Parts: sequence; C-alpha cells; structure tokens
Amino acid sequence: MTVVVLALDALDAGLINHFDLDAFRLESGGEIETFANTQDVPYTPEVWATVATGLEPAEHGITGGGTSEWQNPALDLASTVTGHLDESTRGTLGKLVRSRTGTRERIGETDRESMFDADDAVVHNWPGVHDGKPLQRAWDLMNAVAEGMPRSEFERELFGLCAQQFGWAREMLAHPVSIAGVHVHTLDAAGHAYADDEAALGRAYERVGEYVQEIVAALGEDDELLVVSDHGMRTEFYPPDAGEKPASHSWRAYASSTADTYPKSVYDVRRWVEERAAASGASASDDDEGIDMPTERLRELGYLD
Ligand SMILES: [Zn+2]
Repeated sequence: MTVVVLALDALDAGLINHFDLDAFRLESGGEIETFANTQDVPYTPEVWATVATGLEPAEHGITGGGTSEWQNPALDLASTVTGHLDESTRGTLGKLVRSRTGTRERIGETDRESMFDADDAVVHNWPGVHDGKPLQRAWDLMNAVAEGMPRSEFERELFGLCAQQFGWAREMLAHPVSIAGVHVHTLDAAGHAYADDEAALGRAYERVGEYVQEIVAALGEDDELLVVSDHGMRTEFYPPDAGEKPASHSWRAYASSTADTYPKSVYDVRRWVEERAAASGASASDDDEGIDMPTERLRELGYLD
C-alpha cells in the first residue's frame, strides 16, 4: 500500500473551477489553508518544507530570507510587468532582473524530520527537504521565457521535466513503498508565464490533469493519491482576481484525495499522510516478509548448507 503525494505547485482551487477540470477533483477535496511568512503571499520553499514536516518555518528553518539571494519579488515584478509588454521589451527586462539579482539562488534543506523519514517512504524532489535542483530548473525556464525563449521550447522543457516526475511517482506504485512524494513546478511556471493568456494556461492545466489521471489509473486497490498545492496563481482573466497583481501567488491552495477525507491545511498534510499510510495495516515491511526464502528448496538446490 502506497500513499502517493503529488505536490502540484500553484495548483489553484479557483482555476480548477474556472477551467472546470474534473481531473483534479478526486474523491474529496477543496481549497485549503496556507500561510505567508517572509513575503505577503505564500512563498514556495517555506510552504513545502511545512507540508513535509508539519512544522512552522521558524521550526523547520527554511525561510525565504535564509535560502535565497534571488527573491521572488524580482520575479513577480518581472512577470507582472512583462505580461503587458511586447516580446522584445520582455527580453530586456529579463536581463535586467538577472543582472540585478545575480547570484544563483540556493534552496536550503531542513534537518528536521519529515514524512519522508518514515519506514519505506521515498521522495524524488521536494523544495526545502530534498533536491531543489528541479525547482531551480523550472525557475530558469520561467526566466528564459520572460527573456524571449519561444513558448514551444519552454513547454517542451517544462513538460519534459513534468513527465519525469509523474513517471517516477507511477513507478513507485510497483514497489513496496509506504509514502512516495514528488514536487512538480509545472503549473507555477506556466501560471507566471501565462497569467495573461487564458487559453495557454488552460492547456497547461489540462495536460497536468491528464498526468494526474494516469496516476489514478495506476493505483492499486489499497493505494491512495493526494494532490496538494502550496498556493494558487492570480491571473488577468479570472474574475475574482480583478484589481490584484497578475502572476502573483494567490491564497487559493488546494488539496484532493482518493480517500473520503483530505487535509484542510498545509500544516495537516504530514499527519494526514502518515495516518493513511499507517491505516493500511499491510505496511511495506510486511510485504518484504512475503519474499522470505524457501529455505528447504534452496537447500535441495545446494544454495544453503
Ligand atoms: Zn509555489
């Protein structure tokens, strides 16, 4: 029995309804509570470290100020401004942002216990907990498309990364794993880039929804899937965002699960996941006992004395 946790960055509860996408609506789900700490809106590494540990930023130690020379406000400024300008001006502004912010950002990793320290739990990449490089790669792609990278190339790279992450999650279902978590930055990158383009962002949501459904189809009888986000994304075309800054993070974080309950807050995810993993009764280590060696047979074959 495996609990798969898909950390879909910036999956927005309002946009799921706006685009009317059943692919993200599992057995139960809805908008959940999230938080802001160093910024006035939720900041990605801070929230994901909280999701994995169940701890406040002060306790897990992953905060915007301590982990990055290259803060989101610069990116927010760039995406807000560039959203309204033509392609050549976008490129100039992108270079300005890079020269102003300079140093490569570094995403710290907490030394506190997380849900991925449980027996037979595995994690692929998860900001603040394990391997921040795929997030940096997605950030680079966001910068590149703001600087004029063709959208076809942006999407090819972004969804190539997305496919690897979903493919890993699906593969884990074929192994004795208790909890499998992976962070996917696709909708955040697409949301920043396409906050002014309803059709383009809608296509990105649909594609990611198809990936979610591929995982659903691969679930065994006892497996569970949790889809969860850290925040949403404000856009120019979503009516409730009128008067807000497009391409900034919204408070519309979302969770949905194949079970009949789901965590109602980013602080509750760890407890929820661990309870589901424990509730199965048949833990991954029990499965391992199923491959006890048939010693008599091995003795006959001469492998044992
Ligand atoms: Zn995020």
